[in-house]
Amino acid sequence: MTDGVVRDQNGNLSKQIGKYKVSVIREKCIAAASCVAIAPGVFKLDEEQIATVISQDGNDDETKLLAAQSCPTAAIVVIDTTTGKQVWPLIE
Ligand code: SF4
Repeated sequence: MTDGVVRDQNGNLSKQIGKYKVSVIREKCIAAASCVAIAPGVFKLDEEQIATVISQDGNDDETKLLAAQSCPTAAIVVIDTTTGKQVWPLIE
């Protein structure tokens, strides 16, 4: 890692502006859509009504973290790409 270059869900390399990288654990998503409401530039519901990441840069890091924290099932994982550490959900 990194200098901000990441691989998106389609396997394409792209430059990431913020330092937080979010991903959705599909099995945990119950389509509450609070992540979409808070960070519509990052998340959307796909055809199966599961949240998917459309862009890592659609909203800023703080908004991405807020969206993750709003998820009732903790389906959104936030990784700090500068440290490789998981920021959310909190792990002991
Ligand atoms: S907030 Fe959580 S449960 Fe709701 S759509 Fe987003 S990832 Fe899925």
